[in-house]
Amino acid sequence: MVSRRTFSVASVTTAAAALLPRAVAASDAPKGVFPVQKSDEEWKSSLTKEQYYVLRQHGTERAFTSPLDKTYAAGEYHCAGCGSLLFKSDTKFDSRTGWPSFFKPVENAVGTTTDRSFFMTRTEVHCATCGGHLGHVFPDGPPPTGQRYCMNGVAMKFVPKADAPAVSDKGDSKS
Ligand SMILES: [Zn+2]
Repeated sequence: MVSRRTFSVASVTTAAAALLPRAVAASDAPKGVFPVQKSDEEWKSSLTKEQYYVLRQHGTERAFTSPLDKTYAAGEYHCAGCGSLLFKSDTKFDSRTGWPSFFKPVENAVGTTTDRSFFMTRTEVHCATCGGHLGHVFPDGPPPTGQRYCMNGVAMKFVPKADAPAVSDKGDSKS
């Protein structure tokens, strides 16, 4: 026997948007629907303060503060928000700007919007998977693309190239 308990939970408000922090740059923040979606609270708890500031609030880390700026080891750069592969080390170059710079992202890994904050028109770059803000792209990069993807190191995680998946031969499984 199913008792009709009609609890109308109509208190779910959609007015939360009105409470968004004003700190977000008045630019075209990526508005698309991204495969990875989290609430603001979830992002806050899963990211460091710095990561949250850059990825979710469109912030910029201070120049020359990221260890990734001077990293040139072979490996991959993944989104600190969702782990997606964004850049490979063979597209990285020294832009001398103080931010990790690349001339080309991994295909379909990033998206762009027009950023008109700070009285400039720049092209904002974000992760195509979670929408997290990564940095900007400028048309003054080196060949072959002529693009300079100026990224916040804190928005990425560097994964060194693992020469052969773990050389520990202690296991008995010969792959
Ligand atoms: Zn991401």
